[in-house]
Amino acid sequence: MGRVYLTGAGPGDVELLTVKALRVIREADVIIYDRLANPELLKEAKNGCEFVYVGKEDGRHIMPQDDINEVIYQNALKHKSVVRLKGGDPFVFGRGGEEALYLLERNVKFEIIPGITSAISAPAYAGIPVTHRGVAVSFRVVTGHESPNKKVSQIPWETFKTDDTIIFLMGLHNLPKISKKLIEIGKAADYPVAVISKGTTKDQSVVVGTLENIVEKAKDVPTPALIVVGKVVELREQLKWFEGNA
Ligand code: SAH
Repeated sequence: MGRVYLTGAGPGDVELLTVKALRVIREADVIIYDRLANPELLKEAKNGCEFVYVGKEDGRHIMPQDDINEVIYQNALKHKSVVRLKGGDPFVFGRGGEEALYLLERNVKFEIIPGITSAISAPAYAGIPVTHRGVAVSFRVVTGHESPNKKVSQIPWETFKTDDTIIFLMGLHNLPKISKKLIEIGKAADYPVAVISKGTTKDQSVVVGTLENIVEKAKDVPTPALIVVGKVVELREQLKWFEGNA
């Protein structure tokens, strides 16, 4: 029985990979990877390494999670070193926890290799610090997948009244509902919002607007994209460094 490395591939820029992730990629007998993991990384694999694509994008799963769990398990029965490569960090909306539990139940040894999550690195490449002295004392990473109109919500919308930074992943399709909801709970219509697409890659694009106009401004933005709501967005004007630099 092999060992499974639930590995963060980072947000897109191949250099935003940990040294540990690079080591296990180089040693892997099989790499099971997602759509969001940069395929350039597969070039680091040794000769004879197998590749299994279980693509998924934007929370819409091409292969159901149960099947992915089983694919990982079956590979662990066959191979010594199995790398499960996931975009960003495996435990930030990556369902890495579910995969680890599935392996645990079947007595497969696993390790978690954290990755640089898009939640903070895409803002960083857009010149938006997620915390900033005097502006935001905390940040939250929230699923944008759940409709804000849901009757019983696990998302504490009422607590989003403060100026803490809110980062929505998987939320582009819900942007109209999210911005409306944030205005409903009391945020100003001109409150700053940024939408960052393909963050940290050469195709990164950033749209800056307000809760009132971001839907119109971001209507043609390609995925993957995330939403940053907060006064820290205003710092981009001075701190943007990446676009045109890549
Ligand atoms: N585990 C991943 C997140 C998986 S959820 C991580 O830690 O980054 C998928 C969501 O992540 C997408 O819908 C999008 O909101 C966001 N995302 C992933 N990569 C991104 C990128 N390069 N730029 C912008 N958003 C990204």
